[in-house]
Amino acid sequence: MIPAFNAKSYDFAEFVPARNYIGGAWADPRSSKETLEVLNPRHGKAMAKVVMSGAEDVDAAVKAAEKAFQAWRLWPIRERAHVMYKLRQLMEKNIEELSWLISHENGKIYSEAKAEVEKGIECVEYGCSLPNLAAGNQLEVSRGVACEVVYEPLGVVAGVVPFNFPIMVPLWMLPQALVGGNSFVLKPSEQVPLTTLRLAQLLEEAGLPKGVFNLVQGGREVVEALCDHPDIKAFGFVGSTRVAKAVYGRASTHGKRALCLGGAKNHLIVVPDADVELTAENVVASFTGCAGQRCMAASVLVAVGDVDHILKAVREKAEKLVTGTDMGPVTNEASVQRIRGYIDDAEKQGAKIALDGRNQKSGESGFWVGPTIIDNANPEIPAAREEIFGPVLTIVRVPNLEKAIELENKNPYGNASSVYTTSGDIARRVMQSVDAGMCGVNIGVPVPREPFGFGGWNDSSFGHGNLTGWDGYRFWTRQRKITSKWALQKDATWMS
Ligand code: NAD
Repeated sequence: MIPAFNAKSYDFAEFVPARNYIGGAWADPRSSKETLEVLNPRHGKAMAKVVMSGAEDVDAAVKAAEKAFQAWRLWPIRERAHVMYKLRQLMEKNIEELSWLISHENGKIYSEAKAEVEKGIECVEYGCSLPNLAAGNQLEVSRGVACEVVYEPLGVVAGVVPFNFPIMVPLWMLPQALVGGNSFVLKPSEQVPLTTLRLAQLLEEAGLPKGVFNLVQGGREVVEALCDHPDIKAFGFVGSTRVAKAVYGRASTHGKRALCLGGAKNHLIVVPDADVELTAENVVASFTGCAGQRCMAASVLVAVGDVDHILKAVREKAEKLVTGTDMGPVTNEASVQRIRGYIDDAEKQGAKIALDGRNQKSGESGFWVGPTIIDNANPEIPAAREEIFGPVLTIVRVPNLEKAIELENKNPYGNASSVYTTSGDIARRVMQSVDAGMCGVNIGVPVPREPFGFGGWNDSSFGHGNLTGWDGYRFWTRQRKITSKWALQKDATWMS
């Protein structure tokens, strides 16, 4: 039993160790005694430990999941969805606790953590609606011959998730996979494994049979064992592009259905006719929200022509943000060093640091970088090309819209792209031309909300389709096509 997390402020608080949850029981790894510290990024010190598992633990979880699957797959879809109804209620009831736990292990401020739980609840709601959406088709395709399509589970499936959304990203996968009738092995990020302990507990309270949901804690070794395990049928991954690409290859080689979402370098195109207030508010929220640690965060602002009046408003809003209150820390010291490195390098290469967050802190400890704006950047420097994953906006100036679109399309990622304009024509041209899967008009974080599917293009996604919405259900199920013809028995009477 995992106790509730009782913190109700940012004051430091410890939590129970993150162990494995296999077949409904909490367990330590079979062969390894290794543990890692789970750091509270605001305080820069360990609030818990996480066990580091290996291939044997993956195998034990798969065996438990396989056993549970045999009964779970026979539950009618409506009954499977009832577990999601109950989970939704429990998440609502415990929203404050879950939000504080996310805030402590991830660092994001309370309001952002709460918004994450709310988005997770929305994903669970989608799971509740699946019985009404998942009816297959049936048609008499020729005289006396009927074809029908039935969505069936795959069996044991697995998910691997990143550190930046401890509950929302697991819930991008779980409702569709579980309501679809699969059993699941989840590997949380070793940096933020604690909220999923409470999620496992809530799923148990919601009536999910033991073994249908399993947690295996750890890092690369666990992920590779999941890719290689012959009894795992599908593999969902969300994380950086380097790892997404590698695990997509490995899971596919082992015959698995795989969908692996990767990193991003999102471009926001701002033209002179954009609404100043709306644009400034939105751009700042996009690049500083969750301290820039979102795959949908604004990263490059492409300034088309003379937009200095808008950039001034962006800077004025960003410099008012109070680190610690309006924006949380980044995840660890390595992140601080990486982000500062990009800013130092941009400065050396002649860009102007229009807002400098390098030395901003909140208190004496923790991992802090304040909002930073790099202006007049050469588009070839690393700050303009690579994912920084911190509260840094790089401004690249171009003379016209064609050059802005050309710049966006040269970037290898394709997660998100937005335009700020009051012109319908410009909005339409950008929406038709940018090479990105999730696009926004006057929206800096253009996340397709349920029921629409989340997923980027190019180096931001390996595999086919989207992970959420209806595509998610299709990903975690397979279609059985049944063609039937019934001939009357020769000796049939009206009673037969
Ligand atoms: P990460 O790639 O370092 O880790 C993701 C997961 O992979 C973790 O569970 C980790 O334990 C595991 N992992 C790490 N290295 C591995 C390796 N060499 N082999 C196998 N598994 C490995 O990512 P992160 O730092 O946790 O998260 C941030 C990244 O995730 C950013 O690049 C961000 O853009 C991306 N992200 C993408 C989306 C999306 O929807 N496209 C959403 C959220 C985050």
